[in-house]
Amino acid sequence: MHFSELGLDPAILKAVTEAGYESPTPIQAQAIPHIMAGLDVMGAAQTGTGKTAAFTLPILHRLMAHANTSASPARHPVRGLVLAPTRELADQIYQNLQQYATYTALRSAVVFGGMDMNPQTQALRAGVELLVATPGRLLDHVQQKTLNLSQVSILVLDEADRMLDMGFLPDLQRIVNLLPASRQSLLFSATFSPEIRKLAKTFLDEKPITVEVARRNATAENLTQRLYRVDSPELKRQAVIHLVREEKLAQVIVFTNTKIGASRLARELIREGIAADAIHGDKSQGERLATLERFKNNEVVVLVATDVAARGLDIAELPAVINFDVPQSPEDYVHRIGRTGRAGASGLALSLMVASEERRVADVEALLGISLGRERLALMAPVHSSPSRSTSDRPPRSAVPRSASPSSRPLAPVKRPALPADPIFYAPYDDSHAKKASAAGGASVPADALQSNASTATDGGGQAAAPSPVAAARPSSGLFGIRRAANPKSVLLGAKPSIKSADS
Ligand code: AMP
Repeated sequence: MHFSELGLDPAILKAVTEAGYESPTPIQAQAIPHIMAGLDVMGAAQTGTGKTAAFTLPILHRLMAHANTSASPARHPVRGLVLAPTRELADQIYQNLQQYATYTALRSAVVFGGMDMNPQTQALRAGVELLVATPGRLLDHVQQKTLNLSQVSILVLDEADRMLDMGFLPDLQRIVNLLPASRQSLLFSATFSPEIRKLAKTFLDEKPITVEVARRNATAENLTQRLYRVDSPELKRQAVIHLVREEKLAQVIVFTNTKIGASRLARELIREGIAADAIHGDKSQGERLATLERFKNNEVVVLVATDVAARGLDIAELPAVINFDVPQSPEDYVHRIGRTGRAGASGLALSLMVASEERRVADVEALLGISLGRERLALMAPVHSSPSRSTSDRPPRSAVPRSASPSSRPLAPVKRPALPADPIFYAPYDDSHAKKASAAGGASVPADALQSNASTATDGGGQAAAPSPVAAARPSSGLFGIRRAANPKSVLLGAKPSIKSADS
């Protein structure tokens, strides 16, 4: 199917063509006709599927009847309202809207917290047909009477599951109470959990059109997952450094579960000469956008992020993600790995775990319905421990050829067998097997995957023990955990003294 077959207004079609889109993605092909027809739609789709265009294009089309070039704000009331859980997602939707509306007279604006309200207020006062907002800041504007929602005819709740996770339900309720009862409502969510269905019942037509598609951005053919077991949490930072260098990662998002962990890891990486920065909720919006820009421009190699900050980020062709912590919620694992392997590009999703995270790994495996395998990433003990090592006592990095360093010795290429596609990436999300698994006590983890390695180079306290050769045994691993033969590949890690950061 070609975009022109959808019957979109020529002005919108022109922008779509300029964006380089030729045919609609599955969610677009399914949702656009219904939305153009004015129906309520509930869509199960994640970032990466083209869902933003799936709702923004038909909304623009529907609002074309109101497009005008009058300077009077009264001629530009808010008619379309898009609510998103995070600032980054709101900003991305807005950027897309602006792009698609280039050749129309429709105006759009975005409002989110963490930014000065005044420029937002000015944009609202001038009048916009389309407003993208995070719930809290939208209500701030309503309270300040800089915003009137009485003429909204289309409402979108994007990433509704995340909005519920983030406790936005009362805000959503308040906002919806300000909208005309007669309106078109659209809800997009990664999953259709019972809570989402309940939300849809409250805010949508009794029988909304349901469209479900899998992510187009990750398939068994183009996404490789590997799970590494390390001996202590302290060694995870060293493991990240190792993986970034060994895998020659030029652009990677590393996910941490905490904001403090994100900042600390970024500092540690910078100290090791890796261009890194952190993005999390404690950073100002300006800082977050600037960091994201530097990452997109390849000035930052490692972007350390928390789930909320990373949610909805669309970074084209991100080659890899690393889970520094196993996420608290198994669905976050799916969201995280969905950042890579997009649009047919190959992707690498690496995860680090310590023994105490076994339970959470099992939850992920239960959700995916597979075993992830566990490669041992044991770190070689430091040659000499010096807790306050100064960076001035080593030669500049550029003076040491990488190949000369045992810690960066290239690994023998590992041949990865072609594996069958896993339905998780093309079948609509179905949480029934996760429920079944949790009812049955979670995923069973192969016993061999849990066995400890006799050559462990750390003692019980996580401190360095005597130097020893290191083995990265792979009892079971690979794409979606399909078991492979053990790989005797050895990894030498941490030949340099371990660094104890002042804040660790
Ligand atoms: P989204 O899922 O909305 O975050 O979109 C993911 C990416 O896909 C964005 O970079 C879009 O610009 C791009 N995209 C959306 N629709 C299409 C399409 N029909 N063809 C090619 N790329 C698209």
